[in-house]
Amino acid sequence: MIRAILFDLDETLYPAQSGVMDHIRELILAYLRQRLNLSPEESESLRQHYIQTYGTTMRGLQANYQIDPEEYLRFVHDIPLHRYLRPNAELDAVLASIPLPKIVFTNASREHAERVLNHLGIRRHFSRIVDIRDMAYESKPDPSAYERLCRLLDMRPEECLIVEDSVRNLVPAKKLGMVTVLVGQENHQNQSVDFAISRIEEIAQVIAQLCQPSHSANPCPGRAEP
Ligand SMILES: [Mg+2]
Repeated sequence: MIRAILFDLDETLYPAQSGVMDHIRELILAYLRQRLNLSPEESESLRQHYIQTYGTTMRGLQANYQIDPEEYLRFVHDIPLHRYLRPNAELDAVLASIPLPKIVFTNASREHAERVLNHLGIRRHFSRIVDIRDMAYESKPDPSAYERLCRLLDMRPEECLIVEDSVRNLVPAKKLGMVTVLVGQENHQNQSVDFAISRIEEIAQVIAQLCQPSHSANPCPGRAEP
């Protein structure tokens, strides 16, 4: 039975076209240029290499250089969010209609998550934010991040519904036994994806499907057939 919903933050709770991650990507490249003395081309190819090899640029930097992760997180999240995000009244209403604990599970910092949730006007729905520090800097898609999350929440993977814009981050979740939702791509070909929706607001329809009495992960026992 599902007991909580784990939401990724960036490009899951707001659309990928919003411009937030483009700005963060620019700051990551600026960090690589300034701290490692790289050209723009070298910075971009190192960033891609680190993402492929380690999951995130920060993990790659930690594996290869003595960086201060806190300074890195402050540097790359220093963006004017008001330029990109607005309160989302529709999502606010959708989240209010779902009677399950909602948790943010992000590779970013808690401060960035708080700011994003406040700009979207949905902070009140989330009982907990599990950030990169809570995972001891072991970021998704490293399986240890998901295992650590379950220990922190005192939940079994089968009790978690996880919502993500990245298929890559859903693969280890599915392997552990979580129920998975992909956001932003309705058409996909991946056995790690249980549900796919084009917009985050459609999460209410996923919950409605899970609440069918016949569904093994039914989170709504009160609404099961008599
Ligand atoms: Mg994301």
